[in-house]
Amino acid sequence: MSRRRQIYEGKAKILYEGPEPGTLIQYFKDDATAFNAQKKGTIAGKGVLNNRISEHIFTLLGTIGIPHHFIRRLNMREQLIRQVEIVPIEVVVRNVAAGTLSKRLIIEYYYKDDALGDPLIADEHIACFGWASQEEMNDMADMAVRINDFLAGLFAGIGIRLVDFKLEFGRIWENDFSRVILADEISPDGCRLWDMTTNEKLDKDRFRRDLGGEAEAYQEVARRLGLMPEGEANSVLDLEKHRKKRGK
Ligand code: C5P
Repeated sequence: MSRRRQIYEGKAKILYEGPEPGTLIQYFKDDATAFNAQKKGTIAGKGVLNNRISEHIFTLLGTIGIPHHFIRRLNMREQLIRQVEIVPIEVVVRNVAAGTLSKRLIIEYYYKDDALGDPLIADEHIACFGWASQEEMNDMADMAVRINDFLAGLFAGIGIRLVDFKLEFGRIWENDFSRVILADEISPDGCRLWDMTTNEKLDKDRFRRDLGGEAEAYQEVARRLGLMPEGEANSVLDLEKHRKKRGK
């Protein structure tokens, strides 16, 4: 028996060596963390749902020309991805704001560093520390805007408001040239998703804020995206009961 090589373990995923050079296997755990891992827990079945949801979203983004790391889903919790050099910047897009702020599209950059608590950074920090080139920054910002437009529409079509979300990008090398492609995952772990009629939260805020019903919320997103098996399509989400129980 041989054991596969673990390349990296993060808070919600593990990366293993892939079957071919330049590939990795991304394994989705049920572990959930919040507030820079000060709060830890598990959401039963989250890894399975995020694997499916992220597969679906990356595949759709591919059809509109967004280059990404996803190759194919391997099983319930694993997907084959291209190996990239992760750009140490979390790109956050925010759609919901009030007043004059809401007239601007908000894209923020955070330095991906647990020890520092992922601080908000400015373009000057990125240039100064060499975390990404100006061309890479332009490419990432352009992709973030296109992804936002596409996903906001996709979610609106299933009655969900895309409030905000986080993206990560990675560098791939082709001969002497590198380019950035979308990496990591897109799932309710890294998005704020609110039901358009009830404003019910269908994302990791349920865990962060102890609202209960985390697994049901993730399932509801998967169900509305058409990713749940037939027969469960009519199951009704009852997040009301969690709110009433907690008086929120
Ligand atoms: O906490 P904040 O409002 O900055 O988060 C903005 C968005 O980015 C949220 O959807 C959150 O889930 C996501 N995020 C993330 N990982 C982080 C920080 C934020 O997925 N480390």
